[in-house]
Amino acid sequence: MDLYEHQARELFEEHGIVVPRAEVTDSPKEAREIARRLGGRAVVKAQVKTGGRGKAGGIKLAADPAAAELTARQILGMDIKGHTAGTVMLAQPVDIEAEFYVSYVLDRATGGFLAIASTEGGMEIEEVAATRPEAVARIPVDPAEGVTSAKAAEIAAAAGLPPQTVDVLVRLWEVLVREDALLVEVNPLVRTRQGRLLALDGKVTLDDNARFRQARWGAQQDEHHDPLEAVAAARGLTYVKLDGEVGIIGNGAGLVMSTLDVVAGCGARPANFLDIGGGASAQVMADGLSVILSDPAVTAVLVNVFGGITACDAVADGIVQALDTVRLTKPLVVRLDGNNAARGRAILADRAHPLIQQATTMDDAADRAARLAAA
Ligand code: GDP
Ligand code: MN
Repeated sequence: MDLYEHQARELFEEHGIVVPRAEVTDSPKEAREIARRLGGRAVVKAQVKTGGRGKAGGIKLAADPAAAELTARQILGMDIKGHTAGTVMLAQPVDIEAEFYVSYVLDRATGGFLAIASTEGGMEIEEVAATRPEAVARIPVDPAEGVTSAKAAEIAAAAGLPPQTVDVLVRLWEVLVREDALLVEVNPLVRTRQGRLLALDGKVTLDDNARFRQARWGAQQDEHHDPLEAVAAARGLTYVKLDGEVGIIGNGAGLVMSTLDVVAGCGARPANFLDIGGGASAQVMADGLSVILSDPAVTAVLVNVFGGITACDAVADGIVQALDTVRLTKPLVVRLDGNNAARGRAILADRAHPLIQQATTMDDAADRAARLAAA
């Protein structure tokens, strides 16, 4: 789950990273009061879970409390890349001398973490990374060793950051570990004209697998932009909306990703994908099918299951069960392999639904689904 800036800010503060004074509100009138409390001037910042707010007009400097109220009124309800600003944060303005970038991110490829740091933080960091990658240092961090002062000094030196940032780098690592985050990012980390170091903007992505021991977030969830994503999430399914025509259901992230590739390789475009996970029951399969079939863009569905803990006969039962509650109006190609595949195939063959066909290999299944989607 991604946190809002103000939540990330709170975590930084708890771990001793200096942040500007700030308060959050959903009311323009209260924004005026907050600005007054902050000393009159305030930076009004849209709270949305996406970057690039500054460029999108979601971050504005207000010169006095009246301007803060007006600005908050403008920003509240603003759409930024599909995210609606429901609240604004008002922060005490800071005199910026330099903007740095620092982050730690899980690097699944190496089974470790990566420290990313640059002296050229701020709104253009993506551009800097793309056009001048040498200006962005990337240092692997061994999760067992973590970021000690020595490691932080190494990161700072590699990026050309001043020695003053070492303490922040150590504390930011503490945030990542203690809060069970997959990503912690400060952009910009600023040095003020008075020589202080402040985290002006923060992004934190929490590891949902650790939610059970991070009780403070309660039932809070990422907002879902697609209504079907919300329905799927409520049923504990991972569903992602894409732009194509072939609906895809699989078990396990790896198999689902490969299925997307194979479908694309057949010249079709995936409309969405749904991972029924390991240990999926017939009910999960039925729920999954009903979600995928409710997507009007879907013209054919591909079910690709490699039976492991989830036996193929349970998946086949789920498909047959789903036919009782969901009216199948689109062709369905099913490929079952692995645990109890023969039994699963027999169940579907017995049901003999005119819109369901079976394939024995993933390539064949994808090819058929692609043709049916285009027909
Ligand atoms: P983002 O666009 O979503 O990354 O939002 P940020 O919070 O990073 O703000 C974007 C930019 O606004 C920063 O890089 C700063 O240059 C500027 N900014 C934000 N807060 C302040 C502030 O208090 N004072 C000044 N002078 N600039 C600020
Ligand atoms: Mn930023």
